[in-house]
Amino acid sequence: MKDSKFIKVRCGKCKNEQIIFGKCSTVVRCLVCGIELATPTGGKSDVKCNILEVLD
Ligand SMILES: [Zn+2]
Repeated sequence: MKDSKFIKVRCGKCKNEQIIFGKCSTVVRCLVCGIELATPTGGKSDVKCNILEVLD
């Protein structure tokens, strides 16, 4: 997966689908239930949920 892409993910807890940046600088949380979806690790997102799609 390349950096700086948007990725569509599904929250493992509430199944909310959300589009997040592939290169986040802060922790990304689910907008519905608030669990962590991705954390920044050296310029790249460490995605902790199901990736559905990588968007250009
Ligand atoms: Zn959720």
